[in-house]
Amino acid sequence: MHNFSFRTVPHIVFEAGASKRLSKLAAPVLKDAKRLFFVTDKGVRKAGLIDEALAALKADGFDVFVFDEVVADPPEAVVLGAAGKARDFGAQAIIAFGGGSPMDTAKVVSLLAGGDQPLSEMYGVEQVQVTGLPSIMIPTTAGTGSEVTNVAVLTTGATSKRGIAAGPLYADMAILDPELTLGLPRHATAATGIDAMVHAIEAFTNKRSKNPVSDALALAALKKLQGAILTACDEPSNIEARGDMLLGAMLAGQAFSNSPVGAVHAMAYPLGGIFHVPHGLSNSVVLPPVLKFNAVAAENLYAEMAGHLGLEASSSALITEMERIADATGIETRLSQLGISHNDIPRMAEDVAANDRLLPNNPRELTYDDIVRLYEEIV
Ligand SMILES: [Zn+2]
Repeated sequence: MHNFSFRTVPHIVFEAGASKRLSKLAAPVLKDAKRLFFVTDKGVRKAGLIDEALAALKADGFDVFVFDEVVADPPEAVVLGAAGKARDFGAQAIIAFGGGSPMDTAKVVSLLAGGDQPLSEMYGVEQVQVTGLPSIMIPTTAGTGSEVTNVAVLTTGATSKRGIAAGPLYADMAILDPELTLGLPRHATAATGIDAMVHAIEAFTNKRSKNPVSDALALAALKKLQGAILTACDEPSNIEARGDMLLGAMLAGQAFSNSPVGAVHAMAYPLGGIFHVPHGLSNSVVLPPVLKFNAVAAENLYAEMAGHLGLEASSSALITEMERIADATGIETRLSQLGISHNDIPRMAEDVAANDRLLPNNPRELTYDDIVRLYEEIV
């Protein structure tokens, strides 16, 4: 018998156009809260994605403060600044509107603005002592799954990142509105979509925490994402494909929040931390060599995923399919295309080898030399 526990966000709404009905849909979470703190970024704001939600909330008598200063790989200083503004405003609930960075920022702001625990004491696993303000996540990309995860990753130094993983980071509600993702460019659709597929693959092969619930979610996620990713790239306003991408990313998020990611993400982090390559793209580039390396230890699990996708039930079929998808989307597949050379590999490999949070999840143990060799394969 394999014991496990599984947690997720208690309330999920999937509805095209949902963000326009935000005040109605969010009522069970907002209750009497009238002062709402929006967390977003300038790109989302400029694209007009929050306009209708804002207008509707104001018409319904809500007082809204829009914080749009979130940047990719959110630095601590931005998060602390946002929390200070939320406190000054007297925020009663936090609403994230955006991709992974606004959502991660909002989750931490909810804790900081709703309690007295300093940020420095929250890093690590289950170190959070406060419950935080009510929070609602509204993703505008289909990839991170951050709307349903208990993790927030912040940039703490020049290039270093630290994660907070704790129950209180689960939002009170996730609202999935595929209309918000219609304008996502091809490249971002591909990269974030492949990242979501990686979440499913790594959750399904996690050596320590995989469980029947995360397994079911990972398989369902993979099927939705594989079925929709190329259509979403080729037909950006196909609402069915966009809906499937958003659902797939959310299902994968539920899976990996309970059965965390492994070596693909560990090897992707230095690309983001040192070279500012977007998270999804970093994962997509390092995926093939890690899958090939892991195949000897995870043959049955890879074969099971391939079979579930309607492919021949073998690890090589899964690997070929992931390479086919990346090629068809046209995104970068080599480190050299991202400005990274042979000379950078030792530094990146040292970072990876020191990642004792993610590497133990991987189905096969990686040494420093393995990591160097895997990077060398994709220069
Ligand atoms: Zn990821």
